[in-house]
Amino acid sequence: MLNLLDYDLDALSAWFSELGEKPFRARQAMRWMHREGCDDFDAMTDVAKALRAKLKEQAEIRAPALLQDSLSSDGTRKWLFDVGDTNAVETVFIPEAGRGTLCVSSQAGCALDCAFCATGKQGFNRNLTVGEIIGQLWLANKLLGAAVADGGVEDRDNGRIISNVVLMGMGEPLSNFDNVVAALRVMLDDHAYGLSKRRVTVSTSGIVPAIDRLREECPVALAVSLHAPDDALRDHLMPINRKYPLRDLMAACRRYLERAPRDFVTFEYVMIDGVNDTDAHARALIALTRDVPCKFNLIPFNPFPHSGFVRSPVGRVRHFAGLLLNSGIIATTRKTRGDDVAAACGQLAGQVRDKTRRTGVCSLRTMEEVFS
Ligand code: SAH
Ligand code: SF4
Repeated sequence: MLNLLDYDLDALSAWFSELGEKPFRARQAMRWMHREGCDDFDAMTDVAKALRAKLKEQAEIRAPALLQDSLSSDGTRKWLFDVGDTNAVETVFIPEAGRGTLCVSSQAGCALDCAFCATGKQGFNRNLTVGEIIGQLWLANKLLGAAVADGGVEDRDNGRIISNVVLMGMGEPLSNFDNVVAALRVMLDDHAYGLSKRRVTVSTSGIVPAIDRLREECPVALAVSLHAPDDALRDHLMPINRKYPLRDLMAACRRYLERAPRDFVTFEYVMIDGVNDTDAHARALIALTRDVPCKFNLIPFNPFPHSGFVRSPVGRVRHFAGLLLNSGIIATTRKTRGDDVAAACGQLAGQVRDKTRRTGVCSLRTMEEVFS
């Protein structure tokens, strides 16, 4: 059975033409699936009956199965999805005044093994399919009780309930490049979610050739996990740096900006006590990023068992942000409101399955960070 959530418009049009159907039929089906949240071919009333029958025979519209749905006191909502083989991934929605951000996972686990990351410590399970990636948005829209109106899913007051999507849940999006790009295309497609490129962000640990490909194929907003101002420290914290060192990464960021929908790259910087949070590190960062228009998001380290790291004290984070600001770099710090939620999030995943424990810590922290 084909899952139509696996298809972007081009792929769906190609399949429809194999069925002898016109491209506008594919656009119609996209609108039913993604704008109306429809998973029942019979409900697609303006689609010819004969086509509906064909679709029913060969295809389905199937999002990942929901394992848990939890709402925190600050309005943050978290879903745990089953992606088979005892794997689960998490999706998080953070509502804020005038904007709602959905943090989406791209892989079950992650192969890149960053020293400070709980997801990395799980190891790599597998890439999510297009349907599993876009299915998180599809289902979140439905579960948020979104009213569907022209132009997308609208909030009661202003704008959409999900106005922003960040690929910052579990996994390295650019290691699952083709599926992530197809899912991004559905997010941007006017016949589907119609999100602007500026409101969709891919976060990467810095896979240089894939950053270049993204620039060519689907340039959305870019966030780069930096976490260290020099190669020696970054090699240690993020093994991927041995393959793509800082010099190459900074050059890739500059190239990306030539095509990017925003005129800056967001650098994520996890603040780890005594490891990367001294004045000297701040000065080195300022020098490193001198030629790259950027903003910084400082993320106080989220502890997990046996990580061996400790979160930088609040005063240190503030001081560090001050040093960046004084040099003219915009630096925001993750709001503290999510701390208790992040803990709850990790517990939630742990209750369901041991392997996924702490995944929520990763995804939740991320969203707050970028959008604080
Ligand atoms: N793989 C991608 C996206 C997912 S991780 C990437 O690395 O960018 C999202 C963000 O959370 C990254 O910036 C990551 O470095 C950060 N992160 C991971 N573990 C963390 C922890 N324990 N505390 C704070 N931030 C963490
Ligand atoms: Fe993977 Fe990102 Fe975690 Fe590194 S920080 S292990 S790249 S998810």
